[in-house]
Amino acid sequence: MSHPNVSRREFLKRNSLTGLSAILTPSLLTNTPALTSGTTKAPVQSGSFSLAEPPALLGGKPIRTAEWPVWPIWKPEQDEKQLLDVIRGGIWSRASVVSEFEAKWAATLGVKRSLAVVNGTNAIMAALAQLDIRGGDEVLVPPYTFIGTVAPVLATGAMPVFVDVDPETFQIDPARIEAKITPRTKAIIPVHILGLPANMPQILAIAKKHNLVVIEDACQAHLAEISHQKVGTFGHAGCFSFQNSKNLAIGEGGAIVSNDDAFMDRCFSYHNYGNPYGMVSGVIGAGTLIQGTKLRLTEYQAAIGLAQLKRLDAETTTRNTNATYLKAKISSIPGIVPYKLYDSVTRAAFHLFPFRYKKESFKGLSRDVFLKALTAEGIPCSKGYATLNNMPYLNDAFQSKNFQKMYPKGMLNFNSYVERNQCPQNDRLCNEEAVWFTQNMLLGSQSDMDDIARAIEKIYTYADKLLSQK
Ligand SMILES: *Cc1c(COP(=O)(O)O)cnc(C)c1O
Repeated sequence: MSHPNVSRREFLKRNSLTGLSAILTPSLLTNTPALTSGTTKAPVQSGSFSLAEPPALLGGKPIRTAEWPVWPIWKPEQDEKQLLDVIRGGIWSRASVVSEFEAKWAATLGVKRSLAVVNGTNAIMAALAQLDIRGGDEVLVPPYTFIGTVAPVLATGAMPVFVDVDPETFQIDPARIEAKITPRTKAIIPVHILGLPANMPQILAIAKKHNLVVIEDACQAHLAEISHQKVGTFGHAGCFSFQNSKNLAIGEGGAIVSNDDAFMDRCFSYHNYGNPYGMVSGVIGAGTLIQGTKLRLTEYQAAIGLAQLKRLDAETTTRNTNATYLKAKISSIPGIVPYKLYDSVTRAAFHLFPFRYKKESFKGLSRDVFLKALTAEGIPCSKGYATLNNMPYLNDAFQSKNFQKMYPKGMLNFNSYVERNQCPQNDRLCNEEAVWFTQNMLLGSQSDMDDIARAIEKIYTYADKLLSQK
């Protein structure tokens, strides 16, 4: 992909990362891979903290005691007017504020239509149902995701088939997709996991070749972009979540987006009992057209969403700036391997900031103790997901009457299912290497990012002293 900043990037590549923050421009900051490729790992200088100060986990003074930015953000002066109007007005069920939110969400993404629903899980459920994914079908999914990607696949009666991930990007690995396609395969759900875009150009090409439906799970990837196009707008449908932790937080909420009017009309019907498109609450007896359910968002939820939407773009820029800065800083620490973005990514959402922890470089210090030590330094962190491709919920579905009627017995044998769906790259991320910071930490200052880097350096320096910890 051509890019106006190429010469600047080349300059950065050829020069050291010293003083990086001073010369980075915001447009550059959104394009991370070039910044760190080609840099070599040098041993860490521990000049930024006292060597006499032991790790906080061993009783030393923590690097940081200050609070991290709170989430969700609520600013009464600017956020409460429309919400109070809704509450006092007494129209609480779906009406004009939900429609306003849908219109603004579609416009923000540059997509024709958006439908607000109760949550991201049911956005995926509705999209699968209206793209006619049913019992007997197979749906390709990555194992490195939240259960909300996979639960709706089982709910339609379809069989999830797991495609292993590329550990460098944490995303579904396009090179492993075709080997998993069978005559039953009808759809693929690429997940832009952690808010980092999946490789949509390659995934779309494979889907086209094999005539697969593409439903993007963009539940963590609000405003992320590939070649300046928002994720969620590449497939037949895109699905978003507005759950409390997500980058656009309503508490609960979700959306389906698409450029396909007929599909979106059906989704609307489905989310309102199967009643005709556009029918509103309070109208009864119009004649129900399709098999539906009820997934409507409330007016007060939409009012909260509209308040959050006003800040989303600026917050996304801050997360990109801080993530790029932090990535450059910690990439030089041996054993710390931050996420990689695909070359065509022009912006990420950074719902989470991930890196891989290589304990060999930390004298064999386990990831669990590393996480404890980092938390003790005042840096909250997590090991992230557990492996989704071998949990009991799968067998529970396979033992259900519907699955028993829909699939040959051999396909429902849990042990052989788990065997067929092994994902060793994902196992390594989940069980050994992945470390996350949450998106709210990326809303802080550059010196907050320095704290994170210094805490990791400190643990690196003291790894041998921490080995005794459990
Ligand atoms: C949050 C999330 C979902 C589900 O969204 P809910 O609103 O919680 O139902 C699905 N997929 C991914 C990747 C998510 O992060």
